Amino acid sequence: MPKGFAASADQDPCPCGGGLYGRCCGPLHRGEQRALTAEQLMRSRYSAFARGEVDYLIATHPEPHQQASQRRRELQRSCRQTRWLGLEIIAVSGGGGDLEGTVQFEARYQGGVLRETSLFQRRDGQPEGDWLYIRAVDLDAES
Ligand SMILES: [Zn+2]
Repeated sequence: MPKGFAASADQDPCPCGGGLYGRCCGPLHRGEQRALTAEQLMRSRYSAFARGEVDYLIATHPEPHQQASQRRRELQRSCRQTRWLGLEIIAVSGGGGDLEGTVQFEARYQGGVLRETSLFQRRDGQPEGDWLYIRAVDLDAES
């Protein structure tokens, strides 16, 4: 049986470093699973940047004040222009059974490294709400 692009990508290493894409961030990007922790959401967003999964980036980071079409264009440009090389999680606080959490990470890209502490919250502050990326609480990029 011929394999489609999705199936072959599933056998690739996940950009976030968590194993095979098909068992790591792939099911999240396809909407088959939801992120259970803030760290999982963070990893899947990194992988989405690396793979150009713009819909997933928009869905997991609400920005009601920005026009969707413009955001899509900006994200597509960002994904095209940046070659992500690897992710390292430095520290995690909360973000499991909580309503909020932070993840500190280093993301390497061709030409530099991004260090960020990201804030995540559950949608609408509900215990069963999906994890969402809210904003960077600490940001430091060096090239
Ligand atoms: Zn992954």
